[in-house]
Amino acid sequence: MTDFLQLSSLKPLSIEVVDGSYIVHAEGRMVPSACPECQTGRLHGHGTQKQYFRDTPTHGKTVQIAVQRRRYRCQDCHKTMFDPIPDLDTKRLATTRLIHYIRTHCFRETFASIARQVNMDEKTIRHIFDDYADELGSKFRFVTPRFMGIDELKIVGAFRAMITNVERRTVFDMRATRSKADLLAYFKVLPDRDSVEWVAMDMYHVYRQVMKEALPEARIVVDRFHIQRMANEVLEKMRKRFRKTLTQRQRLKLKDERFLLLKRKRDLSPEAISRISNWFQQFPLLGEAHSLKEAFFAIWENQTRTSAETAFQAWLDRLDPELRPDFKELTTAMTNWHGEVFAYFDNPITNAYTESVNNLAKGMNRMGRGYSFEVIRARMLYDEKARKDGSTLVSKRGPEADDDDSLCIGYATGHEVRTKAKRGPVSHHVIEYGPYIPTLTKLLESGHFE
Ligand SMILES: [Zn+2]
Repeated sequence: MTDFLQLSSLKPLSIEVVDGSYIVHAEGRMVPSACPECQTGRLHGHGTQKQYFRDTPTHGKTVQIAVQRRRYRCQDCHKTMFDPIPDLDTKRLATTRLIHYIRTHCFRETFASIARQVNMDEKTIRHIFDDYADELGSKFRFVTPRFMGIDELKIVGAFRAMITNVERRTVFDMRATRSKADLLAYFKVLPDRDSVEWVAMDMYHVYRQVMKEALPEARIVVDRFHIQRMANEVLEKMRKRFRKTLTQRQRLKLKDERFLLLKRKRDLSPEAISRISNWFQQFPLLGEAHSLKEAFFAIWENQTRTSAETAFQAWLDRLDPELRPDFKELTTAMTNWHGEVFAYFDNPITNAYTESVNNLAKGMNRMGRGYSFEVIRARMLYDEKARKDGSTLVSKRGPEADDDDSLCIGYATGHEVRTKAKRGPVSHHVIEYGPYIPTLTKLLESGHFE
């Protein structure tokens, strides 16, 4: 018969079709000469055992290989073993080419669909994928960020922790949960965790607890967009409340004014300002809340921490008692996170990519139908183009060159290039910071991951 399997270490003996699936009976082609354990012992036959392995689908049928494995026993060390068949993956009871097939397809198809194609358990597909993701993770190790951002994003139905490199605009990692236990376990063994100097975060107490415990040297700064957003939320709630007291026609109008209220006043046209001013005449409290919102945003325009803190105190002092309940959530957050909020003036970093990261989440949820979070994570983190755009090529000249003589060329971002004429061969290596967020966004928008 022709070699149905085309595998060098397996010899097919016969083929049958059972319930529309191929069953190929086969045996190993290789005969071991000496014991692989002790290297010298002579091997004796020790019976046979039938084992079943899944293989890649052929002619639209699933394939299973029934292998008559030969067993051997070493005369010297008395170990028993099966004949060597490199084409088989004994951990997953599949051919190595099926493992490869699953690894390739799991980025494009759901586990359930692959499981059907190859007639395997969905759980096994997941395990094979997990092994692969671990392998990719150790192959592409990203440099631990100096300025780290941590955000929460709802992806595939649950809140996940998104960890970014604020300086490099890259995704450093995505974690399946944002629970304290999971994040502590992760950050406590983070390689080079001492090199994290700053962490920008939203006001999620678990993140602060985890950082204080796992990265005690790192300073925390509240992402200013997160706290500023709370002032806009106050305004939104009030607008909705006042809308209820209006006639139908007026209601529609106040709905249209929503974005005018949320925008910074200085960005509004004179016509828009007169429109919102009319509402403020009708609802003076809304006007006062709007002015408080503007003053709150302006706190971040201060140049120093002291002046910002003074501005905030002045803001608190002018807060109308009637409006205190509306601003309660905001003022409580400011109290609980005071140090971290004003740390911004010591190092003005933000999760400036929060907006793009939110777009990322939207894109991921679009592709998310049927994909697990782990697959989405791996596809984002290890995307070749995005990783390349987020990496830096470092060239070193000569064996005597020290770090100062390295010349850095950013692939995408065109970082500074430093050169110094020095003799000696130039060696290049790539430093990876993780996938570049703007590239990921572009790829998601272009349907690259669909
Ligand atoms: Zn032996």
